[in-house]
Amino acid sequence: MANLGRGVAVVGAGYAGMAAAVALAERGVRATVFESGPVPGGRARRIRITSDGQGNELDNGQHILIGAYTEIYRLMHTVGVPKTALMRMPLEIRYTTRFHFRRLGLPNPLGLAGGLLLARGIPLSERLGAAKFMAHLKETNFHLAADVSVTELLARHQQNGRIAHYMWLPLCVSALNTPPELASANTFLAVLRDTLGGTGDASDLLLPRVDLSRLFPEPAAEYVRSHGGEIRLQSPVKDLGALRQSFDRVIVAVGPHQLKTVLPDAPEYSYQPIYTCYLQYGEHVALPIPMIGLADGLVQWVFDRGALLGEKGRLACVISAQGDHQQLSLDELAERCHRELAAAHLVSEQPAWSRVIAEKRATITCSPGAKPIPVATDGISFAGDYTDPEYPPTLEAAVRSGVRAARSIN
Ligand SMILES: Cc1cc2nc3c(=O)[nH]c(=O)nc-3n(C[C@H](O)[C@H](O)[C@H](O)COP(=O)(O)OP(=O)(O)OC[C@H]3O[C@@H](n4cnc5c(N)ncnc54)[C@H](O)[C@@H]3O)c2cc1C
Repeated sequence: MANLGRGVAVVGAGYAGMAAAVALAERGVRATVFESGPVPGGRARRIRITSDGQGNELDNGQHILIGAYTEIYRLMHTVGVPKTALMRMPLEIRYTTRFHFRRLGLPNPLGLAGGLLLARGIPLSERLGAAKFMAHLKETNFHLAADVSVTELLARHQQNGRIAHYMWLPLCVSALNTPPELASANTFLAVLRDTLGGTGDASDLLLPRVDLSRLFPEPAAEYVRSHGGEIRLQSPVKDLGALRQSFDRVIVAVGPHQLKTVLPDAPEYSYQPIYTCYLQYGEHVALPIPMIGLADGLVQWVFDRGALLGEKGRLACVISAQGDHQQLSLDELAERCHRELAAAHLVSEQPAWSRVIAEKRATITCSPGAKPIPVATDGISFAGDYTDPEYPPTLEAAVRSGVRAARSIN
């Protein structure tokens, strides 16, 4: 290994930057992390709101993890995050309507095929068709020689009707944060391969039981400090060249939308939003399960923050990807979310307060075709959810990229 006596600078304390710093610390390399914000976590962080009159803490957006995320769990374990920080559940997709799918507790392909065949709210012909579709994908290693949109993929395999409405389309929008007509079939297939097509508990759903900064970035910061590194919050980097003078290497782990501030000729990306609407009801209000789908309005998924984080009576509605909801004001959107919950008989009272967090550039659009990734030069390399060659922009992609960047330094 080259002399790294001056250590490595990491720009950005999101999941990618903190993963890079932990991976460096694991190798005995001193990492100094520069973060422009006051809290580590980036697009997955804790925020404090004042409009509720109480200064409640929320996440900038409700997140969900899956069993197939491996690198993030390894690093969470390394930095001492207890397993109880996540609620792990076998894959279950339940809507307020009749549709209900649960993967059976049998090894695949039986677990998946059995779950599909027993799914409720879908005609038998569609259930059989879905099982056949999955078998075909397995035979072709979940990959297309020429990438197309998810809409096109589903059309080719007659996967429309209710199975598309309740299963494939919501899975695409949730996993890729991209409308099916724009979404890359190959990225979608990589997710299906590792979840529905995966082994054991890969398709499990894991929901955070602590806020997103506590889930990994803050314990990671402690770990880095205890290994001789440093985390400098509220320290925006403006000049990569100057930073490079002081450190042996630099890992740039800023979001794709922030790249231009440090790299004027950074590639252009297109983005997709994610809206999270928090509604605070009386403490007795709870969902029948921690996460439930609403398939026929704007709200896609509702999460019970009481069951998950002890925030009793607080529900989080998630709307991923672009859509008509972007025409509404935030107040109108909160009202609409409440009305959809009431129409689905999930609540029967008015909320005490609501708060919509609109992350307009939540992730890059996951379209067919190669995505441009800045090229590492002169001791400066790049990490971030947008750099993963295969995975959609997610926490796992961010963490993998950070570990990859740290390991490539030698
Ligand atoms: C609302 C929402 C919901 C999501 N839901 C899910 C989900 O359910 N599951 C999932 O897996 N993923 C989800 N994601 C995606 C996931 O949050 C991101 O993929 C991941 O957080 C990206 O991490 P990152 O480290 O690559 O980038 P970022 O989190 O963007 O981190 C970049 C960091 O760099 C800092 N920075 C920028 N410029 C500078 C500078 N010049 N100097 C110093 N610091 C700088 C920023 O402040 C930031 O902290 C969601 C994202 C959003 C927004």
